[in-house]
Amino acid sequence: MLSVENVTHQYGTGPGAHTAIKGLSFNVYPGEFVSIVGPSGAGKTTLLRTLSGLLAPTSGTVSVSGKKVTGVPEGMSMVFQDYSRSLLPWLTVEKNVSFPLDKISGSAGERKALVAESLLAVGLEGYGDRYPWQLSGGMQQRVAIARALAYKPSLLLMDEPFASVDAQTRAELEDLVLTLRQRYAVTIIFVTHDIDESVYLADRVLILSSSPAHLVENITVDLPEPRDQISTKENQTFVTLRGHVARLIRSGGRTTEDSQA
Ligand code: ADP
Repeated sequence: MLSVENVTHQYGTGPGAHTAIKGLSFNVYPGEFVSIVGPSGAGKTTLLRTLSGLLAPTSGTVSVSGKKVTGVPEGMSMVFQDYSRSLLPWLTVEKNVSFPLDKISGSAGERKALVAESLLAVGLEGYGDRYPWQLSGGMQQRVAIARALAYKPSLLLMDEPFASVDAQTRAELEDLVLTLRQRYAVTIIFVTHDIDESVYLADRVLILSSSPAHLVENITVDLPEPRDQISTKENQTFVTLRGHVARLIRSGGRTTEDSQA
């Protein structure tokens, strides 16, 4: 689905140049849920921008479905952390969700049906006539998710999408994303700095080092499905994995197991 080959991105040139990501290579397979976790400032947003074609890598190649990415690839949607800036305050919820659909073919009736389906999927049926500022933060982020899904993407990129909501809302949104993943059969790349969240949601966790980010480890999360906020987090595998990821991040890539070896 997505292939990243030896991708490096440097901001600026000359003495002030800063290499944000360095020599990153990994693949994401159709239907996978992959979390990308790393310390703040590691280069996670830079990586997502290169995956989405918003930023050309200085070297290396990103391909989606075998085609080199040079602009936002067809079938890709994105959800960002800052829902207050990604929603248009002067448009109703329904118009916000239908906005990107206006550019695709299909009748007005078909577009209306897609909007209604995705608002229903995120539990916001009946809120189409409201404005974003009349909703809570969690509800606004649901609108942003509905907008990304209405387009029926095959690949969804999420950049710290729940970093600005309270813990209870965050848990609800995490479970919503897991449900939507099944329902829409979408491949998801989810960037977060929250270790528990990265393990709880994903089939695989990619751990980035501090800037310039390189890939420290690629961990398969072998936890029973469906995930559950209480029982999954009590599972010994979860506890072990989260500890391992935390140690890797804290040490910038070296575990105590490494230093003892
Ligand atoms: P993260 O998302 O992991 O917090 P970023 O990708 O935002 O990390 O940033 C990675 C590094 O690149 C940081 O050191 C940041 O200061 C730097 N950086 C990000 N954007 C720019 C930019 N437009 N110009 C110069 N440096 C940047």
